[in-house]
Amino acid sequence: MVRIDIDDRSGFCTGVVKAIDKAEDFLSSHDNLYSLGDIVHNGSEIERLEGLGMKTIGREDLKHLSNVDVLFRAHGEPPSTYALAKANNIRLIDATCPVVSSLQRRVRKEYEAHKDDGTQLVIFGKAGHAEVIGLNGQAENSAIVIEHLEDADKLDYTRPVVLYSQTTKSLDEFRALVDHIKSTLQPGLAFEYHDTICRQVANRLPHLRRFAALYDVVLFVSGAKSSNGKALFDACHQVNERTYFVTAIDEVQPHMLADAATIGICGATSTPLWLMQAVKKQAESLLSAQ
Ligand code: SF4
Repeated sequence: MVRIDIDDRSGFCTGVVKAIDKAEDFLSSHDNLYSLGDIVHNGSEIERLEGLGMKTIGREDLKHLSNVDVLFRAHGEPPSTYALAKANNIRLIDATCPVVSSLQRRVRKEYEAHKDDGTQLVIFGKAGHAEVIGLNGQAENSAIVIEHLEDADKLDYTRPVVLYSQTTKSLDEFRALVDHIKSTLQPGLAFEYHDTICRQVANRLPHLRRFAALYDVVLFVSGAKSSNGKALFDACHQVNERTYFVTAIDEVQPHMLADAATIGICGATSTPLWLMQAVKKQAESLLSAQ
C-alpha cells in the first residue's frame, strides 16, 4: 500500500486566502467582479473563480472601465491606481494584504523623510512585480529596485542608503545584499536596512526541503506562472530528484509514481488545497490501475 501525504503547510498564505474570501463573498450576491491582475498565480483557481463571475483585467483595461466593481489583489497597488479608480468612479474591493499595506506606509514615510537629503531608497524586489510597483509608487517611483545582488552596482556608494524588501524575496539573498552594501559603502555613511520579508513565505523553503526529503516521490503542485512556485520546486528537487512539477491532475503520469512506497504532495503559496487533494486522488487512481 503506497502512502500519500499532503503537506499541511503548503497552500495559500493568509493574504491570498483573504483576497479570495473577499471575491467569493462579493460574488455570492453579485454577478460580476473584475480583478486587477491575477488574484493568485494559479490558473486552476482563477478558472474556478471565473466560473463564479470574476474577470481578470490588466492596468490598460482599467483605464477604459467606469462604474464597475474592481478587486485589488493582495500584492497591493500604487497611489496612481487608486486615483484612476476614483476618477473612473470604480467601486473598490481592496484586498491588499495588511502586511503589504503596512510596508507601503513605511516606504511612503521613509520617502517623505529622505526625499531631499540625498539618501537612496532601495527596494530589494523583482522589477515589474505588482508588489514592487505598489511599493515604488509610494516613493513617486524614485526608489532603486534591486532584484539580485549583481544589480547592486546601481547604487551610489558615496550616498546613504535605506533598504526595504519585497515580502516574498529570499532571506539569504537579502542578507547577502545587506553584507555587500555594508562592506562597500563609504565609511561613515548611514545605512538602514529593514527585513520586511514575510515569514509565511520565507519559512516554507526550509520546511519544504525537510518535507521533500521524507518521500520516495514528490508531486509539487503549482501554477506555471508562479515565481514562488518555481523557487520552491527547485528547493524540493535539490533534495529529492524524483520531484515532479505538476500544474493539473492530468499531468500526473504512471511513470512518476513507479516503485514509490511513499508520495508527498506539496505546493507553493499560490496552490489551492483542493488542487492538491485532486492530485492525490489522481495518484491513487493511477496506482490502483497498475
Ligand atoms: S506572502 Fe505574506 S505579505 Fe505577501 S500576501 Fe501573503 S501573507 Fe501577505
